[in-house]
Amino acid sequence: MRILLIFFDGWGLGANDAATNPFITAPMPTFRALFGGAMPTNDNGHFNSARATLVPTDATLGVPGLPQSATGQTTIFTGINAPRAIGEHLGPYANPALREILARGNIFTRLVAAQHAVAFANAYPPFFFDRLARNKARRSATAHAVGAAGVRYRDIDDLREGRAVSAFVTNQLWREHGADVPLITARTAGQNLARLANDHAFTVFEYFLTDSAGHKGKPELTARVLAEVDELLRGVIEGFNSEDSLILTTSDHGNLEDTSVKGHTLNPVPTVLIGAAREKIASRIHSLADIAPAIEAFLKT
Ligand SMILES: [Zn+2]
Repeated sequence: MRILLIFFDGWGLGANDAATNPFITAPMPTFRALFGGAMPTNDNGHFNSARATLVPTDATLGVPGLPQSATGQTTIFTGINAPRAIGEHLGPYANPALREILARGNIFTRLVAAQHAVAFANAYPPFFFDRLARNKARRSATAHAVGAAGVRYRDIDDLREGRAVSAFVTNQLWREHGADVPLITARTAGQNLARLANDHAFTVFEYFLTDSAGHKGKPELTARVLAEVDELLRGVIEGFNSEDSLILTTSDHGNLEDTSVKGHTLNPVPTVLIGAAREKIASRIHSLADIAPAIEAFLKT
């Protein structure tokens, strides 16, 4: 039993309206093929096809205001309703109260304690490790959860050898900064991610360009990001052995799916499940707080 969780920052489930929802016009052949060629929208609700299940997942968590990244990610990776715990949606980075919640226990710490093989697929550049040593590294809430479990951060050697994936996927940005890593396609990055996931009970990859494209609101950038996401998914699906395993993608809040606003939305996020037992897991998920418990229950069976 294995789970690969791909976390896409800022990807909500939008309206069936091509004027405001860039997913409607995006080709995304891999993603659409999961749903019989259709692009799921807010109108569909729970969407179950022969290949995948989509669960509209509440990111507001009963707390007023727009959902934010640090509280959303903390909720996803702990199972605790983080905005309720600290009294507000907060982001993009975790404050001391959220870091305390993450350090107290999260899906990574619990799976490591249960002796599961766990991997965080993102590759970090050398300067990150220098800053980390000086306690100055800026980390997402996800990365804090990873660190609390003592799961290692992958580095340039892992990236070069295909045992990690850049948050920018194709390694182009690394090369522009002089790093000796191969230029790869998003599809190859997805295959590398799948290989890593085949060797671990639980693997996580964090992708944030979906959220930054939503904030920037530039149609060409959004189209490029959605094409990259789709190619990444294509590689993952080609490489991942999903017979007794599961690919789960989710997000912390909406943003990219509504270009009528240049920021986060109140929309539910699409939790997409591909592979074995997906309906069993899907039935447990209603809000971001249900994801960690659902995954842990799956890995226990
Ligand atoms: Zn954002």
